[in-house]
Parts: sequence; structure tokens; C-alpha cells
Amino acid sequence: MRALVLDDFWNLTVEQRPDPVPGPGEVVLRIAATGICGSDLHGFTGDNGRRQPGQVMGHETAGTVESVGAGVDLAVGTPATAYPVLACGECAACRGGRSQICARRTVIGVDPHRSAAFADRLLLPAANVVPLPAGMPLPHGALVEPLAVGYHAACRGSVGAGDRVLVLGGGPIGQAVALAAKRLGAAWIVVTEPDPGRRTLVDALGVATVEPDGALDTLDAPASVAIDAVGVDATVAEALAATEPGARVVLVGMGAPRLDLAAYPISTAERSLIGSFCYTAEEFAATAAWAGTVPELLAPLISAQVPLAEAADAFTRLARDGSAASKILVRFDEEG
Ligand SMILES: [Zn+2]
Ligand SMILES: [Zn+2]
Repeated sequence: MRALVLDDFWNLTVEQRPDPVPGPGEVVLRIAATGICGSDLHGFTGDNGRRQPGQVMGHETAGTVESVGAGVDLAVGTPATAYPVLACGECAACRGGRSQICARRTVIGVDPHRSAAFADRLLLPAANVVPLPAGMPLPHGALVEPLAVGYHAACRGSVGAGDRVLVLGGGPIGQAVALAAKRLGAAWIVVTEPDPGRRTLVDALGVATVEPDGALDTLDAPASVAIDAVGVDATVAEALAATEPGARVVLVGMGAPRLDLAAYPISTAERSLIGSFCYTAEEFAATAAWAGTVPELLAPLISAQVPLAEAADAFTRLARDGSAASKILVRFDEEG
């Protein structure tokens, strides 16, 4: 099979690798499309230290079941995406349905020892295969993962009917958070985003946007929930300043490994600062089912699709010139 290998930082090459063979309880997906995540870009440049040379990345994917091992009850040809969290299944977190915080978890596409979804084929446990709803355009399946990140962040913030939700950052995760808050019945949602292209896209999703500087004056009331999809000092400060006392502030963006934050807006106003990482298996499956019902919302989230031969150039361009309005998908089912 062809695989997009991170030979070194800033250097991806297409190489031939042996086709995986499913063992008992395993499945091989024939990959159709895989999205380039911000974390892949920072892995490509070496900035986040979460990817290593020699690995095949890719955790936002869609394909079809190509072959199955013994004991697997999945039909060949089933369209599916991958739940990328691999956990121990035995610890308190796993037994409580929160495998994403299992201390022994690894993530497909992050784990350097496992070939992931920027390749023609992906080997994974059958339990991590999530069938896609009938009729869903296959590339939309690659959006389920980032959409689930947003849904989990909104759930971590207990977003519900009547909430006033401020989202910091209008990139793919901020977009996913906004759609999730809408789905959960928020009274209003405002997204702060400096990039005009991203603001246009979020506006088109039916969500209000503002520029970060001075934006908070435009809110008609302080937010009851803020979800930071950027995760740097400035956005956390904004989230604290724009929320009411007692508000929930969710940190899902991983823009900086350390933050300098004002303590008193948290202590004296009893705001809760809540971490959010990935999603539960249940939220992931629910997001896949929901995604099949809203093709018109998902189509604008795909900014461009490139064949594998152009993937390395796309990574270089994105890392150098800044990100696209939303997702770039690498297609493995097209020549080029
Ligand atoms: Zn991602
Ligand atoms: Zn566990």
C-alpha cells in the first residue's frame, strides 16, 4: 500500500509499505479520505512534540471495510470511520466510559508505533470501527472526528437550552463546537476569530462571529459558557472576562503547553475551568449518526481535497502560510 511517511520534520514522502492483514478481532479499512488536523501540522513541523519521524499520521478518516479477522461481524464494503482512541478497557476511566482519559491510552495517528490513516489501508480493532450512516457522502466521514471533539467540549461545558455560548477560535474545532452548541439548544453562540475567511465560513453556518479585539463589548450579556478552541493566554483571558460569575470555561484548544492566567476571576467568581480531550466512544458514535443528517452543514467544512501525490505540498503550504478556513482532505481513492 501507499503510505504518507513523516521521514523527518518538514518532510513527508509517499512510500510503499506492506498491506496490513487483520488478525482475530481486527479489521482493515480501505481509506477513501483523511483530514489534515492542526495537530498533524504541528507534528509535521515538530512544534508539538506529539509526532515522531518515521511515523504515518492520520486520525480523521473515512473508508470502507476491506477485510476482517476471525470473530468480526462486519460486512466487507461497510462505509466506516475510526474511533482512534485505544485504551486498556479495565481501569476506572475505561469502565466509566471515559477511555479518552485512560492512563494507558494511545491514539491512532498519534502513536508513532502504529501506521495510521494517511495510507491506503488502516488496521484497527473491530471495536474501533464506527459504521457511517447510509447515504452519507464518504468524505464527510472524515469530519466525524473533529466534530466529535467539538461535541465533547460542549458536553464538558454542560451546554444546554438557554446557554449563552462564547467560542474562542473559528477554526475546525471552533466550528465543530459552534455546531454542537447549536445542536444542544444554546440561546446564542458567538465565535471570536481574527481570520476573515474563517469568519465568513462560520457566518455561513448560521453562527455569529466577531473579531477578538474589543469583541466582548458586542455581547448583549456575559456568556454562561465559554469554550476555548485556541488555548493561549489571550483567549483564556477573554473567556474569563466575557463570562458571568459561576460560568463554565472549557479548555479544548492546545495552542500553548503553559498558560499564564488570572486567578481571581476563577476563585472569587467561582468560574469552573474544565479540560476537554477527544471524546467518549459513545459521543463519537452519536456524532457519526448526527453527521449523516446534516450534509448541508458538513459540505462547507471541507475547504479542499487533494490527491495523495499533492499531500506533502499541502502540508508544507499549510504549515508555512497558515491554515485554511476549514478542513483539507487527502483522497486515497483518486489517482494523482
Ligand atoms: Zn485532530
Ligand atoms: Zn483504561
